[in-house]
Amino acid sequence: MACRPLDWKFIPLVTEKARSADDNSTPSPPEVGFDSLGLSEVMMGALAAAEYHEPSPVQAGIIPHALTGGDLLGQARTGTGKTAAFAIPILERLELVDRSPQPNAIVLVPTRELAVQVRDEIAKLAHGRKTRCVALYGGKPIRSQITQLEKGADIVVGTPGRVLDHLARGTLKLDSLQCVVLDEADRMLDIGFRPDIEKILRRCPKKRQTLLLSATVDKGVERLAKSYMVDPQIMDFSPSSKAADTIEQHYFTVEEMRKFDLLVRLIDREKPEQAIVFCRTKRGTDRVQRKLSKKVKGVDCIHGDMQQPARDRVMRLFRDGKVRILVATDVVGRGIDVTNISHIINYDLPQSSDDYVHRVGRTGRMGREGVAYSFVTPEQGIELTRIEMLINTLLNRDEIEGFQTVAQAAPPQDSGEEDKKDEPKKPAPPGQRPRRRHRRGL
Ligand code: AMP
Repeated sequence: MACRPLDWKFIPLVTEKARSADDNSTPSPPEVGFDSLGLSEVMMGALAAAEYHEPSPVQAGIIPHALTGGDLLGQARTGTGKTAAFAIPILERLELVDRSPQPNAIVLVPTRELAVQVRDEIAKLAHGRKTRCVALYGGKPIRSQITQLEKGADIVVGTPGRVLDHLARGTLKLDSLQCVVLDEADRMLDIGFRPDIEKILRRCPKKRQTLLLSATVDKGVERLAKSYMVDPQIMDFSPSSKAADTIEQHYFTVEEMRKFDLLVRLIDREKPEQAIVFCRTKRGTDRVQRKLSKKVKGVDCIHGDMQQPARDRVMRLFRDGKVRILVATDVVGRGIDVTNISHIINYDLPQSSDDYVHRVGRTGRMGREGVAYSFVTPEQGIELTRIEMLINTLLNRDEIEGFQTVAQAAPPQDSGEEDKKDEPKKPAPPGQRPRRRHRRGL
């Protein structure tokens, strides 16, 4: 597709920003119902069956434009209903075209878990239709995917590597595509999928609709849009602060060796509906899961060393609520979308601050309330500050009886002068960063 200058059209509409603003002067967005979006009866039936009673702001914004067939770049995180925002128009528009043996739409996603999740969401919204949706991702024998493709697929959801594999074998053809979706485009570029995505896009028909969804829009995403989209409308649904406003965020100062005991006490205190406990390493994930299973019911773990069938099984159990506490690494934790996750526990702080935003975004889905706790060792004050700067929010310090004593017994790293002024009765725990006054106005 020719490289053409982008005519960036910004559309002021029902954004999360408007919805979550405290400022009374911000006009309330007009309430939009699914019935005002011009959807078919069968789609209205599917939405009722899914118990989606009203569109999320992202859906109210994206669906009408996507239904016209125009290109669109939407800045939206997971958890905002973005999957249905592109799935609904795709399903509606497929009605208009002849069914061909090859897919009419393809959705490219960064991870296997997201491929399954998006396929399931599409299947849910295809209620009442005969739409065939196939997920193509690595870690699964390619044979069964080929069999599914041979039976015919209207929509394909896949990770770029596996999609290319099928293209090379000739088991997937893209000539009948009407619509291409790049979901979590920033994440796909982050993990080095650009060459694969470009190879796939070059094999798509020139006349098509391209929808690009991304949590962030940086130069890389812009370049992709400029090269492969035609006059996209741009819609910004990014919330005013990076982590959703519905999430309470706390931290504990805790020494490495006491983290596990703190975790058990925290779970006992909070009694989470469902929680993800994030660890930095695969071995750490296994270890925490093993120990925690002896103390708490419904614990399982997921990480990149596990075989795909085992990962799928754990995700299914978690989605069904049979696993209550999932210990996970970032690689697989990032795309998890389970509405009942009430708690995120950062047992280890993430390697990059951006990952904090993604981890915490697993809770507080669709406007529900969520809470996130981070375990910060005395040496990690600076890492906590980095996270706070990124999200432009101060995390609240929390304490659990019996854990503060050890922290207070050790010598503080800072002089403590500032600490005393702010909080005279509470000496800073070891490595406590300079007090909050230093971190205001970030
Ligand atoms: P997503 O941002 O696509 O990952 O969606 C987040 C979650 O919200 C998923 O579990 C969806 O099934 C759910 N969801 C999407 N749209 C709606 C809606 N309009 N009403 C209620 N739940 C929804």
